[in-house]
Amino acid sequence: MSAAVDPSLSRIPVMMPWLGEEEAKAAADAVLSGWVAQGPRVAEFERVFAERVGAEHGIAVSSCTAGLHLTLIALDLGPGDEVIVPSLSFIATANAVRYVGAQPVFADVEAATGNLTTATVDAVRTPRTKAVLAVHQGGVPADVHALRAACADWDLALVEDAACAIGSTVGGKSVGHGALLAAWSFHPRKVITTGEGGMVTTDNAQWAERLRRLREHGMNASAAQRHASTKPILESYLEVGYNYRMTDIQAAVGLVQLEKLDEVVARRRALAARYETLLRDIPGLTAVRDPEYGQGNFQSYWVLPSEDFPASRDELLAALSEAGISARRGIMASHLEPAYQGHPSAPLPVTERISRDSLILPLFHTMTEAQQDRVVAVLREQADG
Ligand SMILES: *Cc1c(COP(=O)(O)O)cnc(C)c1O
Repeated sequence: MSAAVDPSLSRIPVMMPWLGEEEAKAAADAVLSGWVAQGPRVAEFERVFAERVGAEHGIAVSSCTAGLHLTLIALDLGPGDEVIVPSLSFIATANAVRYVGAQPVFADVEAATGNLTTATVDAVRTPRTKAVLAVHQGGVPADVHALRAACADWDLALVEDAACAIGSTVGGKSVGHGALLAAWSFHPRKVITTGEGGMVTTDNAQWAERLRRLREHGMNASAAQRHASTKPILESYLEVGYNYRMTDIQAAVGLVQLEKLDEVVARRRALAARYETLLRDIPGLTAVRDPEYGQGNFQSYWVLPSEDFPASRDELLAALSEAGISARRGIMASHLEPAYQGHPSAPLPVTERISRDSLILPLFHTMTEAQQDRVVAVLREQADG
């Protein structure tokens, strides 16, 4: 191994989780405690996480995808029901609807935020629509106050896919505050991580109880409850459930990550603000920014080149890659994937434009200003043709 490599010239990743000795020690403590499956650390992580987002209940699960699946079961959705989702999202959003046998109906998004709006939802609403699954895309909060009010008028349930959005706020309150049901992800591509993992939050005690049961094979008493009891508890299985549990090792890491959340979000926002300043003098590049009703965590920092920008998105990705910089295509359009071939969809022009032309720039906690300057220099060069 050469110690002479200048770190400023090493490859710049698009994202890197911020993990350290504290997380390693917390995981080791969980292992050494002898309790590694869902147990006291999961219960503690649920409590602290729910408090953080201002929800009554937190139900830890194995992934956000699993969490989304359970929210739709809790709402008793199934065949014959339609659920409105953005196509502009990681494909898990739409897939969760198909897990319960319901029909995902793709709605377009607004260009500024990449999120559903009351207008784009209204455009695809039918008498079979039962729910809306709104995403806080890339950590940009959706206008939940407007969406909640409209869904209440239309008698639709609003589920929030907050996979990317821990630390984002609407009206000064955490995303998920006041949500019927919200699902979160702790995948390493998100802002805090447990390796894999997810959470559902809700204020509804009955849903919370059912979600706890469903993540654990439909059992009426958890392994932790049985362990803690001095009398034998004979469990029964009240409905067909799943194994969607989080482990205590993951929760131990999550508890440490949650303590770092404010610092992580502050750093991401500072880097995003610096990007914005630097990119301002490059004509034809629009960067993601806060909507007027809230603040994002900049989980994904995306830029959208104008239609007449001298370089195509793929040319920009290639130029960045050549300069040792990992960037990514922008958020996918689920309706264009083979898994959705033949699936009916209204025209989604904004979704297709963002998905085709946008790219995600590197942004991670330990990113240096010099690294950021390298990214911007490549974009400037491409803008100059
Ligand atoms: C990452 C992501 C998911 C999936 O999260 P997992 O924890 O990996 O299952 C779902 N929805 C959105 C919007 C995401 O970005």
